[in-house]
Amino acid sequence: MAVQKVLWLFLIQNAMIYEYFYSASREIFVCSNCIKKNHHVTAKIHVDEKNGEKFVELSENEHICEPKKDEFAARIINHSNFMIVDRDDKTNPAKAIVFTSKE
Ligand SMILES: [Zn+2]
Repeated sequence: MAVQKVLWLFLIQNAMIYEYFYSASREIFVCSNCIKKNHHVTAKIHVDEKNGEKFVELSENEHICEPKKDEFAARIINHSNFMIVDRDDKTNPAKAIVFTSKE
């Protein structure tokens, strides 16, 4: 049985964690808590064709869910598969780290 792919978005500024599950049909990660309220917040992983580096594209939609606290970060910090995210947003230049589960 396939293991569910998971993506965690860790906001450095306030040490909050959002958990996304992979939607194979749409090939994107969807916030698992927002979707329960019928609100779609997504993340998509792209690979830079020039250097092969992965980067993540976050949706414009803001979370309406309650994020998890930072103790969760200790558990996922060991995941080798992580990316730094720079949000292209002048008013809220929050940096975040994205972790994904092993594929
Ligand atoms: Zn959410």
